[in-house]
Amino acid sequence: MKTLWQNINMHKFKTLDKDMSCDILIIGGGITGLNTLYALKDKDVILVEKNTIGSGITARSSAKITFLQENIYSKINDINKAQKYYECNKLAINTLVHIINKENINCDLEKVKSYLYTTNINNIKKVKKEKEILELFGESPNNSNILPNNMLVNYAFSVDNTYVFHPLKYINNLAYKLKEKIYEHTNIINIKEENELYYCYTNNFIIKAKTVILACFYPYFLFPFLMPLKGNLEKSYITIKKDKNKYFSAINIDNELLSIRYNKDNLITVTNSHNICFNKEIHDYSWSNHDIITPDYLPYIGFIKNNLIIATGYNTWGMTNSITASLIIKDIINNKENKYIDLFDPQRSKSILKYSYNIFSSMYSLIYNKVYKNKKYYNNNPIFIKDKAIYVDNLGNKHIVYNKCPHMKCTLLFNESEQTWDCPCHGSRFNLDGKVIIGPANYDISTKK
Ligand SMILES: Cc1cc2nc3c(=O)[nH]c(=O)nc-3n(C[C@H](O)[C@H](O)[C@H](O)COP(=O)(O)OP(=O)(O)OC[C@H]3O[C@@H](n4cnc5c(N)ncnc54)[C@H](O)[C@@H]3O)c2cc1C
Repeated sequence: MKTLWQNINMHKFKTLDKDMSCDILIIGGGITGLNTLYALKDKDVILVEKNTIGSGITARSSAKITFLQENIYSKINDINKAQKYYECNKLAINTLVHIINKENINCDLEKVKSYLYTTNINNIKKVKKEKEILELFGESPNNSNILPNNMLVNYAFSVDNTYVFHPLKYINNLAYKLKEKIYEHTNIINIKEENELYYCYTNNFIIKAKTVILACFYPYFLFPFLMPLKGNLEKSYITIKKDKNKYFSAINIDNELLSIRYNKDNLITVTNSHNICFNKEIHDYSWSNHDIITPDYLPYIGFIKNNLIIATGYNTWGMTNSITASLIIKDIINNKENKYIDLFDPQRSKSILKYSYNIFSSMYSLIYNKVYKNKKYYNNNPIFIKDKAIYVDNLGNKHIVYNKCPHMKCTLLFNESEQTWDCPCHGSRFNLDGKVIIGPANYDISTKK
């Protein structure tokens, strides 16, 4: 199912057709990869994307560009770290707007007020606390008990200098300016280090690079990073309705998430967030998406090991955090000091206790979904025969796929609303014919050769 953003014609880019060498290889053509490529454009750098540019999580975002991210500064629970994170987001917003203006990128950028609100009397204190922290950082938020769409709330405040945009128009235009350096349909299936060089393998070719940047959201290359332990996946559901643009965005901090923004005359809401491992039956939405939530709500940006860099774990705030990643990575590559490097260090926590919830939820979905795979739940369509699943679509066509995720062998769930096969353990998604559309899985589940 296409998202609202995917209704544009994306540029096409070449596919790798020979072995190559470069100083820096960026793996992943989402907003992280493209912002990083832009920051490093004067270097000997190439970017590879396994599908098409912008086809991953970025295409399914709600794409607010904001430093008001629920009550994140309270949740970070360390005022110095919270202040640094705030500074990074402010810098990222200015940088993103600067790039859009400098490169003359038409991407529906709109400056809007952003609101943080609650409709639960018990959460007023929490919203007020977030406001106080922002005041401490130098913001001047305004109180309100109604949103610009006349929605009554128990308490809200608004801040200025935040934006919304069309994420794929941004990526598409930026990528076109860097087209010499981009390869689509180029899937890195393995990386090996030898004599201070990385050998990155596609099915047919090898790219040799001194430095590799993993901008691939949820890296397939598990070791040494152990991603499944370092973040859980939060899934949410996006709905589009026609409404007159009210030029604001808002998000609550209540148990039932409601995030609001507009794009032209479309009202875009994000609701029903839950851990991907605990399946919920949600209907009547336009598309779903998931992002990585880290135990301390801060992204992972920096070295995993020598000359292998990662940028991920954005806690559903990748529009700004991907710019932060690009600025930090640029300084790392140029051997320049950057006072935010420690804050996002991917190796910052070695405590297994911090990750115990992620281990538990993955194990739960691994076992529970095996049991769930029964006829009653699916109403006999799809049906399962040994390791295969057969789905008959509205036109009577049969779609046969393997029912195990190639990543870690979790049983896949059929998503009737979006007509996809979804992995409840680590978020991989496949279309009806088994083609992988979202990783970490790197292989299809198609039964056809
Ligand atoms: C419901 C929801 C709403 C959101 N709304 C907002 C918002 O309003 N504001 C905000 O700031 N953030 C938002 N986010 C978060 C944001 O969308 C993400 O953090 C961001 O898009 C992640 O971008 P990325 O480039 O890291 O990942 P992706 O966009 O997934 O890009 C990674 C790319 O790497 C490619 N790839 C993977 N493996 C390989 C490989 N082996 N070889 C080659 N290529 C590979 C993939 O195909 C993909 O294109 C939201 C998230 C969710 C879930």
